[in-house]
Amino acid sequence: MHITRTKTDIRELCAEWRQPGTPLVLVPTMGFLHEGHLSLMRLARQRAGVQGRVIASIFVNPTQFGPGEDFDSYPRDEARDFDLLRAEGVDAVFAPDAAAIYDPQAQTIVETTELAKTLIGKLRPGHFRGVATIVTKLFNIIRPDAAIFGEKDYQQLAVIRTMTRDLDMGVEIIGAPIQREADGLAMSSRNVRLAPADRAAAPVLARALDQAEAMAPSGITASRLRSHVRATLEAEPRARVQSVDIRDAGTLDTISGPLTRPAVILLAASFGKVFLIDNRVVHPSPEET
Ligand code: AMP
Repeated sequence: MHITRTKTDIRELCAEWRQPGTPLVLVPTMGFLHEGHLSLMRLARQRAGVQGRVIASIFVNPTQFGPGEDFDSYPRDEARDFDLLRAEGVDAVFAPDAAAIYDPQAQTIVETTELAKTLIGKLRPGHFRGVATIVTKLFNIIRPDAAIFGEKDYQQLAVIRTMTRDLDMGVEIIGAPIQREADGLAMSSRNVRLAPADRAAAPVLARALDQAEAMAPSGITASRLRSHVRATLEAEPRARVQSVDIRDAGTLDTISGPLTRPAVILLAASFGKVFLIDNRVVHPSPEET
């Protein structure tokens, strides 16, 4: 596995590899890898085929963290990450530091103007601008044929699909299902920072989503479903509920009245200082699942 630290090195490697019939597939991450990330590497290999190349990036992107967020305390363990990627048969990892990525004179940003303002964008102003800009830079540096993103970050996936379409980036975007711990908690690099009592409490997110999924086919309205989910979360004293939203699963538009189309339930809650998100697409009638 090639380990690269500079734009020049990864560009040169990709230029060598870019041949007809050998797709380049990128998996962007912030490192401290878990089984969720590794499932993305496997999908990338499937898409790339034996001839193609899988490239992972590891970069804790400072511009997507707001003041007072967890940029400094975000967990990092590069040596372990490299071992895991090597074991997955990843061809190259791009692990730059911020100075190797951002020119101090930079003045250009990429923003999905509407999607960036709503949902997590409200809780974390500037977050999606940071995400869209770094992903654009990674696409321009690596020029992948396809890139894999987890449905765990549902709105992020929507932002990336939208900007790829709007700016004609010509990169195929592939979504990957959420990987969970045995008790339902969605895997996240942040889970290791949970205090033991918070780790025990955090599966309430998945439980609330299970309940909502079971209730969705009953003709329930979006607002009643939202109240149920919120009540389940609020019954857990260690959870500080940040947001509960039910949106159209395709467009992320607001919805009201009885569910008529697939809807996504989006949750954000803090446990101590640790900010967690989760989501589930639910269907109004069982035959649509
Ligand atoms: P991160 O390192 O948190 O930026 O995540 C890198 C990629 O892995 C993103 O596309 C995430 O959506 C995805 N990812 C993170 N956690 C999971 C999970 N539990 N299941 C599936 N994909 C995930």
